[in-house]
Amino acid sequence: MSEDDNSGQTEDERRIEDLPGVGEVTAEKLRESGYDNILTIAVASPKDLSEVTGIAEGAAARIIAAARKMADVGKFETGDEILKKRESVLKLTTGSKSLDDLLGGGLETQAITEFFGEFGSGKTQIMHQLAVNCTGPEDQGGFDADALIIDTENTFRPERIKQMALHRGFDPDETLKRIHVARAYNSHHQILLAERAMDEAKKYNIKLLIVDSLTSHFRSEYVGRGSLAERQQLLNKHMHDLLRFSTVYNAVIAVTNQVSARPDIFFGDPTSPIGGNIVGHAATFRIYLRKSKAGKRIARLIDSPSLPEGEAVVQVTEDGVTDI
Ligand code: ADP
Ligand code: MG
Repeated sequence: MSEDDNSGQTEDERRIEDLPGVGEVTAEKLRESGYDNILTIAVASPKDLSEVTGIAEGAAARIIAAARKMADVGKFETGDEILKKRESVLKLTTGSKSLDDLLGGGLETQAITEFFGEFGSGKTQIMHQLAVNCTGPEDQGGFDADALIIDTENTFRPERIKQMALHRGFDPDETLKRIHVARAYNSHHQILLAERAMDEAKKYNIKLLIVDSLTSHFRSEYVGRGSLAERQQLLNKHMHDLLRFSTVYNAVIAVTNQVSARPDIFFGDPTSPIGGNIVGHAATFRIYLRKSKAGKRIARLIDSPSLPEGEAVVQVTEDGVTDI
């Protein structure tokens, strides 16, 4: 499909230069930040567009209004149309049949799945396993695609990837080449990396984006009641960037989150995930992980739009995350 072909183009194929007020320079800045089609601009906020392009918020609002007209984003769809769209949703295996079953077949594309639990509950192990599985063939629950990991706690271990790949019968070195890792040094860096993920997805066939951990930087940087609003606002923007990635690239988003071990001054419940409603509303699937005896982990599905609550038991061994 040619970008310059103007005949019979649909709204999403129109170039962003077609928008009034978007010249070459602005278009370039928009593309660099992942706003590379009419639809992503139509759903942006004037503040975000103004930040990435340097144009005034009023001008950004006019561009967004024009994009909305072109993209027809206000359309309602009938249930059967939505069902059809849902058919493009793919599912990524966790490596455990019982955990896959709990999730209705695996982690869904076009959604965010959050794993939360205390330190050592197996969140990072599951993220490694998902990255390995993503590179695997489709008949084994994979996508035969690359994975991106935003590592905020410096817990990515290529040695673990190799062990897990070997167990699944994949070439360990080839598997490592398909997993792209960036270390995030603070929350702003983390947000920037999520924006840049769009660029990586143009170079590689990325079907999984992991943020491990989603909240640790936010939690340590924004301490005290006075900074709560700012923290939640930034987390909200970050979650929406992730959601946008998941829909634009039909990708799985997997994030980890801690529970506050001691009563949090914001969210008093000692087993509640960090980030409160902001994270809760954006995540489609939430799984609470806890340790059990002999390397076992209990995963509990919470708040799913269409699946019953329930539990699955998995184990973490040298081979990775597997059924008991
Ligand atoms: P977190 O939820 O804090 O991210 P992790 O995913 O890092 O927790 O889990 C760490 C735990 O995973 C370890 O305590 C250990 O039980 C298990 N684990 C890690 N590596 C291995 C391994 N090579 N073999 C067996 N178990 C492992
Ligand atoms: Mg971890």
